Amino acid sequence: MQITSGIFQVGGPYESDSADAAVYLIISGGDAALVDAGTGSGTKRILKNIRDTGTDPRTVRYLFLTHCHYDHAGGANRMRSETGCRIVAHELDAEFLESGDSEVTAAAWYRAFMEPTKVDIKVAGSEAVFTVGSLNIHFYHAPGHSPGSSVLTLRSDGRLVLFGQDVHGPLNDALRSERKDYVKSLGFMLSLEPDILCEGHFGVYIGKDKVKEFIESFL
Ligand SMILES: [Zn+2]
Ligand SMILES: [Zn+2]
Repeated sequence: MQITSGIFQVGGPYESDSADAAVYLIISGGDAALVDAGTGSGTKRILKNIRDTGTDPRTVRYLFLTHCHYDHAGGANRMRSETGCRIVAHELDAEFLESGDSEVTAAAWYRAFMEPTKVDIKVAGSEAVFTVGSLNIHFYHAPGHSPGSSVLTLRSDGRLVLFGQDVHGPLNDALRSERKDYVKSLGFMLSLEPDILCEGHFGVYIGKDKVKEFIESFL
């Protein structure tokens, strides 16, 4: 599914595997990046979907993990070996990815194990900027759902696109969720006034009002 001229959905329950959260492909000037990787069961289908957009998977420079949960990050190792990309995550979730913590990554909820996954670039603090082609991709720490949950923004076709994969939560002690941080992060996302929201489980929201309404519904 094409979202803007440079953004496609290439993975998700209908696109790659029933347990996969959404996987988004960003392309610009012969360079590419992925937002999340699914569980790993659908990696082959994700790679096919990437090729179907006319993109060589070997041009994927970064795999941005919005957080450590299995439905978003379980396929990260496989995706890196297939594409040669570098895995990016916030340092506060990187520890659970690297140790393969099946509880905090929620892999146990899927009756699966989290494969220990080395994080190549650990984002510290509140913000980092990455370049893909001519795009500046902002990576913001937006904790609450998990300690290292993060969101990404970029401008595509003149519109501000927010990748907020688990805007909807849930909050759960086993996932080390923090309600206070979560509410603050929702407020931060609203302050960005995005034109498009690419969510991990609820699809794509287009239009400032629709995005605002969706985010506010969780406050
Ligand atoms: Zn999650
Ligand atoms: Zn999720």
